[in-house]
Formats: sequence, C-alpha cells, structure tokens
Amino acid sequence: MIVLKTARELELMKEACYISAMALKKAGEAVEPGVSTAEIDKIAYDYIISQGATPNFLHLYDFPATACISINNEVIHGIPSKKRIIKNGDIVSIDLGAAINGFNGDNAYTFPAGDISPSAKRLCEVTEQSLYKGIAKALAGARIGDIGAAVQEHCEAAGYGVVRDFVGHGVGKKLHEDPSVPNFGTAGRGVRLLPGMTIAIEPMITAGGYAVKQLSDGWTIVTADGSLAAHFEHTIAITKDGPVIMTKI
Ligand code: MG
Repeated sequence: MIVLKTARELELMKEACYISAMALKKAGEAVEPGVSTAEIDKIAYDYIISQGATPNFLHLYDFPATACISINNEVIHGIPSKKRIIKNGDIVSIDLGAAINGFNGDNAYTFPAGDISPSAKRLCEVTEQSLYKGIAKALAGARIGDIGAAVQEHCEAAGYGVVRDFVGHGVGKKLHEDPSVPNFGTAGRGVRLLPGMTIAIEPMITAGGYAVKQLSDGWTIVTADGSLAAHFEHTIAITKDGPVIMTKI
C-alpha cells in the first residue's frame, strides 16, 4: 500500500532526511586510507544520536550497525568492522538513515578513498548522474518506469550493469514502504506517481554485469563477476511543483 504524505507530514519528515544527509556527510568525511569501517559507522551513530534521532538501519531485519559500508566489488549491505581497513584507491559506498518525529530518511553515496583509478571515478560519476536523471523523472503524473528507464539508459549507455535484484522503495513512517522503485524498466509503465509520495531512488551500478551474490555473512551483496560497484541514493518527495530532494543538505 502506498502511503501519501500530507504537507504537514512532509514537514515532519524533513528533519529525519536532514539528519540522514548530515550523518552521511560526516561519515564520508572520515573515509580515508587506514580508517576502519567500524570507525566510520561510529561517527554516523554518534551524530544521529546527538540529534535526538534513531539510526534506522540498526537492528532492522537484525542488521547490526548504523550504516551499510560496502567497498569496491561490494554493492550494498556491507557490515562495518574494526578489521575492515580502507585502502588507498578504494571506493566506499555508505548507506544510512535516521528516524525522528515518526519518519525516516535514507541516503547513500560512494566516496573515494585517496587516489582512485580513472575507471572507478567514471563509475561513480555516471552512477551519481543517473540518480539525478531518475530524480528528474519523479514528476506527479509520471510512472515509476520513467525513473527506472532514465537510470538504466544512462548507465547502460556507459557500458555498466544495472543491478536487478535490489531496488529503491517508498520511505515514510517505515524505512521500506511501497512502491518498489527499480533502477530499470520501461518508460510509461508501472505505478503512477502522485503528490505526497516519498521514495528512495538508489541506483546500484556495476562496472560489469548486473548479477550479484550474497556473501556467507548473510548480508554483504557483491558483484558476481568481481567488478566494481557504486551506489547513490536520495529520499525524494513528489510534489505538484516537481521532485524535492529531502536528503539534500
Ligand atoms: Mg534505501
């Protein structure tokens, strides 16, 4: 069931999205060679708590941390660890959110650690561009497939793989709500977008094929072919005046 938010509810949700964005920014600023992913997770946790909010990934489906931190060939759902030390040239995808006022925010960004290769840089750039291509299609009266088609077209034109097994989602009182927001699809198809819908658009893009697999930790999703992956996400509100990026600082 898709829950439309009132103007008042969108106001309440703004704070969760702002705290989510600030937590992601602070976590990203800590990304550098030699730092463990557990240290980055703690920065995000401490910030969210300091704002009176709740880290909404923590304990959700038994996930053990505030942030999903996924490096290089890891696409999503990497578990922070003291043993996982970031190296020069890594690309580090951080996905996290916060809840406050009864609403959730959700956002992700792939940060470079030190000097990354030109190919890794291009993957991150194209993935981030595709997020904005998708957001531009998040218009009242349009369809979910318009978003996915825009993301897919941009990334596949660059020779990249668009992950099929994981998709974006509605976000609101719950972190994961209807509808599903695929990063692939056909323009003009799918759920019609209405003012008051709030969705997380989150391209998960690989430098190779789109197939992924789960590691034996039960969480980490990696590319099946070992290629690099990038992940960018914003929480968006669909309004009669166009898309509003709720997780923009
Ligand atoms: Mg999400």
